[in-house]
Amino acid sequence: MTVKLYLSSKTIYPKNYQPNSLTYAQFKKVISKKFVFLTVNMPDAELTGDLGVIGAGVGGLGCAIIAAYKGLKVVVFEGGRMGGIVTTLYARKIVENYPGAPSILGKRLIDEFIIQAEEVQARILNERVVNVKQNEKFLTIVTNEGSYNFRSIVIATGSRPAELGIPGERKFRLKDRGVYNFITDPDKFKGKEVLVVGGGDTAIDAVHGLHRIAKKIYLVHRKNKFRGAETKVNLIVEDNMAEIIYNHVVDELKGEKELEEAVLENIETNMRREIKVDKCILAVGMTTNLEIFEDLGILTEGKYIKVDKEMRTSVPGVFAIGDIATQYQLIVIAVAQGAKAAHNAFGMIRKPYWYKEEEWPTFESC
Ligand SMILES: Cc1cc2nc3c(=O)[nH]c(=O)nc-3n(C[C@H](O)[C@H](O)[C@H](O)COP(=O)(O)OP(=O)(O)OC[C@H]3O[C@@H](n4cnc5c(N)ncnc54)[C@H](O)[C@@H]3O)c2cc1C
Repeated sequence: MTVKLYLSSKTIYPKNYQPNSLTYAQFKKVISKKFVFLTVNMPDAELTGDLGVIGAGVGGLGCAIIAAYKGLKVVVFEGGRMGGIVTTLYARKIVENYPGAPSILGKRLIDEFIIQAEEVQARILNERVVNVKQNEKFLTIVTNEGSYNFRSIVIATGSRPAELGIPGERKFRLKDRGVYNFITDPDKFKGKEVLVVGGGDTAIDAVHGLHRIAKKIYLVHRKNKFRGAETKVNLIVEDNMAEIIYNHVVDELKGEKELEEAVLENIETNMRREIKVDKCILAVGMTTNLEIFEDLGILTEGKYIKVDKEMRTSVPGVFAIGDIATQYQLIVIAVAQGAKAAHNAFGMIRKPYWYKEEEWPTFESC
């Protein structure tokens, strides 16, 4: 098989290669059979597509669907698992609050997003973004595999489970040794004594998910009231699903090869106690994936990227959506924000008659 090559701005592509005709992974598969894949730096950069979306969670995929449906050439970059935290944290949970898809399995919901993204020909590359740069002509996404230029970029990198930073946490999180962030596989908890730490929806969901599976559940919360959905909290109390330990924090997780014990501390009395546990679910919040945007000089507000009501960031041409940009952490919000960003990116790039060009916000005015 012969593959003709020509040099583009950064990467060697086969002749007639269109970003939308072949995924990067498919292209590499073909080309690596015949050639060593080269990346070269050429000064005048060429456009890869109209819109680059970083992250294929529900926000990124939703945005890509709307933007590609409108006719933009869209490339989505995913450095982990397609579907973001829905896939990594709760693929087997029944999602009950996404309108139009009642009681749908997390994984199934993501499958539907992917099917729809493929239908509208949004391309998804399995590459981790390591940097984003801006020059006079383009916005450049740099991944572990190459560089790609776009007219506009949507940041949808979401968040990851926060760490408590206590002894034992990292040791037992590795290789299935007893510490998790959510119930990815209920079978692992069958007949076990489980410690659930946290007071929000994730911790409350975990207790419901473990009820009648685990032998015993402890629910430890540093406050004396839960933040999670009241109806679900009430059910835990009424059905005696867990031993609730208020006003306590976890100081240490102990064990030889696997988790065996947790040290709890009463934050009012400083009294410590040890409980025997086989598994622990740390549902102690989320940290946003902001690190790769440091060079871009994007404005942040606490752990979130600062955006205006149109999802524009402080960097012209760059939008941010979903969990990285909002504290309303819901699938429907991430998707809606993605649709807004797609609409605005389309207007900015194609300049249709109905689009009212506005100055990019300075952020003092937001
Ligand atoms: C346990 C739990 C249960 C929940 N249950 C519900 C529920 O029932 N209903 C509901 O509406 N909401 C629920 N939520 C909230 C909802 O899941 C989130 O609000 C939503 O998934 C956020 O989507 P996102 O696209 O912004 O981010 P994410 O889903 O976090 O996706 C971000 C993606 O970006 C990728 N990424 C990050 N960095 C890079 C990089 N450098 N390069 C390339 N890719 C990168 C990640 O791998 C990931 O795939 C729940 C959240 C949790 C934690």
